[in-house]
Amino acid sequence: ATPTALMVGTGRGAQLGILIKGPEVLENTRRVDTIVLDKTGTVTTGEMTVHEVVAADGESVDDVRRLAAALEAASEHPIGRAIAASADSLPAVEGFTNREGLGVEGVVEGHAVVVGRPSLLADWSQHLPASLAAAVERAQAQGRTAVAVGWDGRARGVIVVGDTVKPTSAEAIARLRDLGLTPVLLTGDNEAAARHVAGQVGIETVVADVLPADKVDEVKRLQAAGKVVAMVGDGVNDAAALAQADLGLAMGTGTDVAIEASDLTLVRGDLLVAVDAIRLSRRTLTTIK
Ligand code: ADP
Ligand code: MG
Repeated sequence: ATPTALMVGTGRGAQLGILIKGPEVLENTRRVDTIVLDKTGTVTTGEMTVHEVVAADGESVDDVRRLAAALEAASEHPIGRAIAASADSLPAVEGFTNREGLGVEGVVEGHAVVVGRPSLLADWSQHLPASLAAAVERAQAQGRTAVAVGWDGRARGVIVVGDTVKPTSAEAIARLRDLGLTPVLLTGDNEAAARHVAGQVGIETVVADVLPADKVDEVKRLQAAGKVVAMVGDGVNDAAALAQADLGLAMGTGTDVAIEASDLTLVRGDLLVAVDAIRLSRRTLTTIK
């Protein structure tokens, strides 16, 4: 590949809304055969809304919502933003801790509060009572995400959140297939929600319930099996996987950490532009052969 031809490629990329780190990036793109897609914020809008707040017997829905919202006000996660926005009052929080890909914890109104994936509460021996476990199952069967809320050593409620698939995701995935790429959906969210989204956009391979630190292992596993892997993501939890991938594509609407870890940035956060990026690299290399 001559530097001149590759420079033409990067200039054309900018016109298409693709920021390219360096000319050599396009060269790596040519051999990509697998495309790993993060779910929330990449295939879906990442704009979550609260659908339901469920309280355990003897607890109030208001308390569940208020204490969870107070804690989530300090979170940058889409789930956190939705929960924070759903409450009218946000009491002060002490000792806030974000546990990436798991949830958040801190002290609110004198209570030690935990909000996050149901397994996070189980780690704290806050097992879900049957009524809450049923709410979790119901939510997940609808393709939604159930967040557990507990304080002072007991699970007290569940908040059901969800977002929608971006309008261009299904078409983009069909075109990626036409280009010979196999799509894989990779998410920290639950299996049922992940399958629901995968079904809507035409992805067959789903890897769910993945902890942030394990996303990178999934990319390595594919590479060890001989795949040349592109990864598309937007979150802090995607950064290591984006850096590990043969080609990392960040959503321009995502976090700075994801953008820094990537080779390409899709400025508008539209997956159709990922298709343009792959086509552009192939065209650029064909021209110079
Ligand atoms: P994704 O891979 O879809 O971007 P994450 O790895 O960010 O998802 O999160 C995985 C799961 O961890 C979420 O589905 C949710 O259950 C839980 N979680 C993460 N952050 C939070 C938070 N701030 N509040 C509540 N739950 C959270
Ligand atoms: Mg994401």
